Amino acid sequence: MAKKKKFRAEFRKNRGSRARPPDLTREFRAGDERGQDRARQERVSGKGELTRKRVVIGEEAADADGFAVTPDVDLAVCRRGRVLAVYGLTSEVESEDGAVYQCATRRLLKTLSTGQRHVVAAGDWVYFRPAGGNEGIIERIEPRHGVISRTSRGRQHVIASNVDQMIIVTSAAEPYIKPNLIDRFLLTAEQNGLRPLICINKVDLIDPAELQPLVGVYSRMGYQAVLLSARDGAGVDFVRRELKDRSSVVVGQSGVGKSSLLNAVEAGLNLRIGAVSSESQKGKHTTTTARLIRLLMGGYVIDTPGIRQFQLWDIIPAEVVTYFRDLRPYVSRCRFPNCTHSHEADCAIKDAVADGHLDARRYESYLALLADEPA
Ligand code: GDP
Ligand code: ZN
Repeated sequence: MAKKKKFRAEFRKNRGSRARPPDLTREFRAGDERGQDRARQERVSGKGELTRKRVVIGEEAADADGFAVTPDVDLAVCRRGRVLAVYGLTSEVESEDGAVYQCATRRLLKTLSTGQRHVVAAGDWVYFRPAGGNEGIIERIEPRHGVISRTSRGRQHVIASNVDQMIIVTSAAEPYIKPNLIDRFLLTAEQNGLRPLICINKVDLIDPAELQPLVGVYSRMGYQAVLLSARDGAGVDFVRRELKDRSSVVVGQSGVGKSSLLNAVEAGLNLRIGAVSSESQKGKHTTTTARLIRLLMGGYVIDTPGIRQFQLWDIIPAEVVTYFRDLRPYVSRCRFPNCTHSHEADCAIKDAVADGHLDARRYESYLALLADEPA
C-alpha cells in the first residue's frame, strides 16, 4: 500500500501563454530590468507544458499507466463506485448499492498530467461525491491494474481498466477470420498482463476441421482457443465458465458476434445485434463507447463495440518479439544482439521458420507488427 503524504504534482499548463517570451534571453543579457525580474520569478525549464506544480494531499503509487495520483477524499460523503461508461465529459458510475449516477469529473483530476485523453475509463473504481438527484462528481480514481488503451491523436486513451482477461472474438466466416488480428490482440494482452482467450465464433458456417491447424498453433503456445457458435450454442458453456467471477474485456472487429456471444452467455443482457453488411463484411458499427456490464452470475465484461483494433501504444520495435511466446525462445541464438529478425544474417528465428519449427504465418504476423502495419 502506498504511503500517504504531501507531494508536488505536475499539472498540464492549460491557461495563459508560455511563461517565457522568446526575447527573454536578449532582454536579460541587455540588463533590462523587466527581464531580470522575470528571471527571478520564474523557473524556466525545458519541460514545456508540464511545469506548473501544486501541492496535493493523497497517495502516489505506480499503476498500470505508470505514475498515478489519488487525492484524498472525504469518506463521510463520497461513495465508491465503478465506471460503466464514459460519454464525453460525463461518466456513468454504478455505486456499490447498485444505483447509477451521472458524474462530472473534479477539475483537479482533469488537470493532473496523466498524458491521457480522458482521465476516466470504463472499469475504473472511483470515489464520487453525490451532488443531488442521480448526479455526482468524481473526486478520485483508484490506481488501475489491467488496462487496454489505444492511441488517439498521439495520446494514450485508456479504453478499459481493471480487467484480468481479454476475450478475443473472431469469426470463422462473415467476416472471414483474420489470424493477424488475433496476433495483434494477443500482443496487447501480453503487454498488459491480461490472460487471453481466443474465441472463434460462427463455426456453424464452416467445417470446423478447417480451423484445426490454426487452433493447434495457438494451443501449442499455451493459449486457449475455443470454437463456438453464438447462434447454435456450441462452446457457449465454456465461455460462460471462463467469464464467471472475472473482469474481462471483449475485443474484436464489429460483426464477429461479440454482442451475440454475450447475449448467449447471459440471457437478459439484450445487447443490440448489428447486421453484417455484405459488401464490406465489416459490420455496421452502432456505438464506439466501451461499456462495463455486470453479469448476474458474477463477474464483469467490458464490451468494446466499434473498436476494430488497437494501435500499439508505448511499444518499441525491439520489444515486439518478447510478446511472441513462440518466437521469444530463439532470440538469444541470433548472431546480432540487436537482431530485428527481419533482414539480418544468422537469425535463429528465420532459421527456425525455414526448418519448420516455427509457424510461418506467425512469423509474418510478427513482421507486420514490427512495421506497425494495420492487421
Ligand atoms: P458484434 O458487432 O461483434 O457485436 O456482432 P453481433 O453480435 O452484432 O453480430 C453480427 C452478426 O453476426 C449478426 O447478424 C448476428 O446474427 C450474426 N452472428 C452472431 N453470431 C453468429 C453465429 O454464431 N453464427 C452465425 N451464423 N451468425 C452469427
Ligand atoms: Zn534474429
